[in-house]
Amino acid sequence: MRIFNPATAQTLAVLREDSLARVVEKTALLRLAFAHWSAKPLAERIKVIARFNQQLEKRVEKLAGILTSESGKPLQQSRNEINGAVARINWMLENAEKYLSDEWVTNTDTLKEKISYEPLGVICNISAWNYPYLVGVNVFIPALLAGNTVLYKPSEYATLTGMEIEKLFYYAGLEQNAFKIAIGGKATGENLMDLRVDGYFFTGSYKTGKYIYEKVASRMLPCQLELGGKDPLYVTDDIEDIAAVAAATADGAFYNNGQSCCAVERIYVHEKVYDEYVAEFVKAVKSWKLGLPTDDGVYFGAITRKEQLKVLENQVLEARAKGATLKLGGHIIVHEGNFFEPTILTDVDHNMKIMQEESFGPVIGIMKVTSDKEAIELMNDTEYGLTASVYSSNGERAQEILSQVNAGTGYWNCCDRVTAGLPWAGRKHSGFGATLSHQGLRAFTKTKAWQMKG
Ligand code: NAD
Repeated sequence: MRIFNPATAQTLAVLREDSLARVVEKTALLRLAFAHWSAKPLAERIKVIARFNQQLEKRVEKLAGILTSESGKPLQQSRNEINGAVARINWMLENAEKYLSDEWVTNTDTLKEKISYEPLGVICNISAWNYPYLVGVNVFIPALLAGNTVLYKPSEYATLTGMEIEKLFYYAGLEQNAFKIAIGGKATGENLMDLRVDGYFFTGSYKTGKYIYEKVASRMLPCQLELGGKDPLYVTDDIEDIAAVAAATADGAFYNNGQSCCAVERIYVHEKVYDEYVAEFVKAVKSWKLGLPTDDGVYFGAITRKEQLKVLENQVLEARAKGATLKLGGHIIVHEGNFFEPTILTDVDHNMKIMQEESFGPVIGIMKVTSDKEAIELMNDTEYGLTASVYSSNGERAQEILSQVNAGTGYWNCCDRVTAGLPWAGRKHSGFGATLSHQGLRAFTKTKAWQMKG
């Protein structure tokens, strides 16, 4: 498997993909390690993960360089991601005892009742490339804290990062063979489907998630899916600082080149503020620099996957053919690396792919609406249900709107953000199950109900 730098098309590494025999062997080692790791007291496991986090924090600069080289993400955004992962792990460390310890329900002389949280066993985590530290940490850290061992398959576009993560666990003194990575792309993923594991935790596209879910269903294993989105954002007519809202929401659409599961993918704006909002939005995006992700001050780096360039171009061409107005960008940039112009379309509607299919790139459609009711209908007109956002000076109005939108996260006056203490959960084609929060810490456990007399 050849690993490319998406900004320069240079080969970074050539690696051997894991064969079926190799992943079977790794799983057997993980099974052996499970007996030791799960038997350690939670406090011991917390100490090991804390050491992992120290290793991560110590190496931000080096790891950010590796992440940028294989993902094309601007260096500062790579640093932000790793620092964000460190903070997220700290939350998990601080809350592990609270949510993973036994819970007493009744404790009298004659009756004792409690809930204990037992690890699932060996879990398989198949992951995405867009935020390999953040989406990886959401799964393998709480899984390990709960006493599981983990077979982690980084995306083929984040393999070097996955290899670094494996090393950090080694430096942290994790039980030998408690965490192993599976190297490769789709074929390696396929090799994981029949392994003797105790649960599948997947982050990636709806298409692959559905395939995995169907594939493992007959084995009655826990299977959790964190999938894509087509996240809507609505700007009401009562916002005060239109320029500030336009800039903040443009960042929600374009950070990481729009390659975020919770990136703003569709914008609805009340007709009273529409013209000014669009003008300020275009102005903000034009002010952000596009270039090599290693250059200072770059906001738009390279697009990670070359094949996505055509997907983006087709969405733009289809929208224009159906009447959309191109306000900015719209084209693949001719370069040895993968670059796409930041693109803004208006006069869009829901017959266009740009308002229906996940773009996962620096393109956005902005649509005029006349009322909150119309905005709610449009926000709900989607197969997905990850996040939804409303910008308004009136909190009650925003919450009323959000309560009517079928999405796992509601944002008022913010967007494109994830918090360790809140559940991260999709609905409909965005998946099911939650990571983060108390739910995410317990997602890698099975409960045992204890009823004890005497
Ligand atoms: P993808 O579905 O192409 O790949 C995800 C993983 O699945 C990769 O490791 C890949 O090698 C593996 N895979 C591919 N085919 C497989 C198969 N047949 N069997 C087993 N494994 C297989 O997704 P991606 O391009 O890596 O990630 C982008 C997608 O992930 C977007 O849709 C994005 O919205 C979503 N995502 C969701 C979240 C979330 O929290 N909901 C977070 C990040 C990304």
